[in-house]
Amino acid sequence: MSFTQEEEIDLSPESTAKAGVILSSLDWIYNWSQSNSVWPLQFGLACCAIEMIGTAGSRHDIARFGAEVFRPSPRQSDLMLVSGTVTKKMAPQVVRIYNQMPEPKYVIAMGACAISGGPFKQGYNVLKGIDRYIPVDVYLPGCPPRPEALLHALMTLQKKIKNQKTLGKNITNPAYKEGRRIYPVPVLSGDDLDPPYNPEVWTPPAKNPNVEDGCE
Ligand code: SF4
Repeated sequence: MSFTQEEEIDLSPESTAKAGVILSSLDWIYNWSQSNSVWPLQFGLACCAIEMIGTAGSRHDIARFGAEVFRPSPRQSDLMLVSGTVTKKMAPQVVRIYNQMPEPKYVIAMGACAISGGPFKQGYNVLKGIDRYIPVDVYLPGCPPRPEALLHALMTLQKKIKNQKTLGKNITNPAYKEGRRIYPVPVLSGDDLDPPYNPEVWTPPAKNPNVEDGCE
């Protein structure tokens, strides 16, 4: 691009693109690269995990979205896919693994079980939603959700990442807004796990004195 001092410089996107120059913001580049290289943690809890594994196969090919690098270590992952029933025995391990992930980190609650307990909601041993203990970014309903639905959840997460702000005012990127998020690992106390991150989601019903523990 050449110009004289008298000419005004045209910095419109069309003009700069013709000259081989792309003008952008740091936020855009950061979000674009991050949203297209999400590394999920390689772990599954129940039948929904089979659908998650199917998503990585050639028919659905999660690699098209840059998210095929399932990492065996939470320290190398930025997406936790809670795929399956979360029992009260397993929930502390899920929180512990979440705590080990570096920021920025995201969570997809995959399937009715991870969202609300699903078909086992009345079970004495099953959580009524993982969002009581860790923050969830995308809820994916279904029992089980098909691989296409998981890809849609991933695209929804990508949209969320693309809209986050890392610089300037009104920062929404969780890594810069709150610092590293580490939550207390819950322990079994009576019939429930304590302490919950988000107790508003569900509180245990009052005990019926006429019914034995675990039989309600
Ligand atoms: S939501 Fe359905 S398919 Fe998924 S873990 Fe629960 S019971 Fe299994």
